[in-house]
Amino acid sequence: MLVMLVHGGASSQVKNREARNQGILKALNEGWAILEGGGSSVDAVEAAITTLEDNKNFNAGRGSLLQLDGIARMDASIMEGEHRNAGAVAALEGIANPIKVARLVMEKTPHILLVGKKAKEFALHYKVKEMKTNTNKRTEYQEKALKKGGAIVKIYKEIFGTVGAVAIDSKNLIAAGASTGGILGMLPGRVGDSPLIGCGIYADNSVGGVSMTGTGEKIIRMTLARNINYEMANGYEALSSVKRALREMLISIGGEAGAIAIKKDGDFGIAHTTKYMFAGYKTETEGPYVSDRFKIVQK
Ligand code: ASP
Repeated sequence: MLVMLVHGGASSQVKNREARNQGILKALNEGWAILEGGGSSVDAVEAAITTLEDNKNFNAGRGSLLQLDGIARMDASIMEGEHRNAGAVAALEGIANPIKVARLVMEKTPHILLVGKKAKEFALHYKVKEMKTNTNKRTEYQEKALKKGGAIVKIYKEIFGTVGAVAIDSKNLIAAGASTGGILGMLPGRVGDSPLIGCGIYADNSVGGVSMTGTGEKIIRMTLARNINYEMANGYEALSSVKRALREMLISIGGEAGAIAIKKDGDFGIAHTTKYMFAGYKTETEGPYVSDRFKIVQK
């Protein structure tokens, strides 16, 4: 049973709807082509996320938000469900495809997470493409954040376009991944949930796979990806599992988040607490379907 899910971020506003829908569709189709050709879920997840990192309409890779010092520092992770191996990078500067570096960490090192300058050196060693995003110019949001809070920065609730993917391949192997430029108004050096296994992503072939979007500061405190997997392990359908975990977050600490999740039998679910979430799915019988709204979870 092949399933491909992609997301392009939870948010309270919609910008560039058409371009984003097209971006999700392209990522979905690229991932699907790999699955259909007998390729692995890890390859499909990496391909889908790479396309979105290359698309300026999403907050990952080329389209990454800047931190308050005007520099983009990106986070990404990938996990495979057979051996539950994973790789991630955080605060990575100047590399076009952080998801590729995350995969290299998973496959070429005994580690899970590389950060900052050393993560960049590692990426360059493996010849991952460089890019220039460091403008050192502050955006309108950064000016606003600085004015409002000075050192105490307000985290803005409009979240735009973190990306992620989850897939099951023809061997029933599950993989999940995420890639982000972070959130608006973040301090230099801030790292969110996306590179943290169990928070931003999770994959376990005996249960399912999950990729998150939303305010990392809340997702981390709830270890949301693992929580959703735990709900699925307890027999809930994928959609109920996402809804249960998101509602638990809303009730206990509040926050904004969205998730895509697949269960090992192919059942899948997409839900969010925000007004919008760009995402799409394709299975052997459904899709490709792309929308900016799925199930909205309230308290
Ligand atoms: N989860 C991401 C972070 O906190 C942001 C997002 O999903 O929009 O870095």
